[in-house]
Amino acid sequence: MGEPLYFITDLVHVYRGQAVLRIDRLDIPAGSIVGVIGPNGSGKSTFLKLVGFVEKPTAGEIAYNGKPAAPFALEVRHKVSLMPQESFLMKRTVSNNVAYGLKIRKDLDRLELRIQTALSWVGLDAAEFAKRPSYALSGGEAQRVALAARLILKPEVLLLDEPTASIDALSAQLIKDAALKARSEWGTTLIIASHDWQWLYGVCDRVVHLVRGRLMGSGRENIIFGPWEPGPNGLWGKVLADGQRILVQKPPEALSAAVIDHAAIVPAERPIPNRDHQVSLSGVITRLALEKASGDIIGSVLVANLPFTTTLAESEVRENGLYPGRRVQLLYDITSVRWF
Ligand code: ADP
Repeated sequence: MGEPLYFITDLVHVYRGQAVLRIDRLDIPAGSIVGVIGPNGSGKSTFLKLVGFVEKPTAGEIAYNGKPAAPFALEVRHKVSLMPQESFLMKRTVSNNVAYGLKIRKDLDRLELRIQTALSWVGLDAAEFAKRPSYALSGGEAQRVALAARLILKPEVLLLDEPTASIDALSAQLIKDAALKARSEWGTTLIIASHDWQWLYGVCDRVVHLVRGRLMGSGRENIIFGPWEPGPNGLWGKVLADGQRILVQKPPEALSAAVIDHAAIVPAERPIPNRDHQVSLSGVITRLALEKASGDIIGSVLVANLPFTTTLAESEVRENGLYPGRRVQLLYDITSVRWF
């Protein structure tokens, strides 16, 4: 992994008088795969637009390859390619859509072959698809054409905004494979915003967590939004859909978000040690995924309708017989809850 490709300092972006993104510092090494997770509205798309140099930050600086770069500046325009959440295809043939970027650059050398190759990367046969109008594509095929239109440019950076949301499973897999191939063949840096955290943990060198426009670390933090109400014994709480209560100490504000960094899980039938400050919630393991960068196992436990993330050692998973579908107790210490 090389020098930082991006170096971001004091970045602030404001929409309608409200700061929706605030990143004090972030560097992204060349050739890395960075995942961005966070709830809806947390600033993921805004972040991608800024590092994609299609929008100018309200304040702060984004240096690219060691030099501050402005939106659409020549040094980034042909290198950084953003695939937005709602990819736009022109009402023309697939071939025209895929070739568009190269035509703008007047880079027409062996165009047909390059279109064919780009389409084959996303599992589309040029003989069948090249002449098809874009309106005659399924959602998944259209998304693959949108990606082929970026891949044909051999970008240094590929920014993918929810590339696999609401498309069929085969298209999603082809898109994932093509993005990783760009990275392995050309060293393309990938920055991917996705709700598919299992995929991100599996492929990313680093996963960042955006919450209300701020970076929150690794994404393993559990963020529980208010409102909070006064509960028993001077504690405050939030009642979940199944009647269980998340307990916390008095929040700074009723609407503050609680951050639970560490939650342990134990099989449900094991008696819970009755320690002060320890809260136990009943939930079901929904997923266990291996994190590529750390070798840790990331577990997701659904408590009522709230997903919790925990980090587990392989031995813990084995010795406790943890598997998706298993009912467990999720334990956290009230005094370790931070406020966001
Ligand atoms: P995410 O991608 O995580 O869902 P976004 O980056 O789209 O989040 O949005 C972050 C915040 O900025 C939201 O509150 C959203 O309503 C607001 N926002 C996004 N784009 C615009 C825009 N063009 N004009 C005004 N507000 C916007």
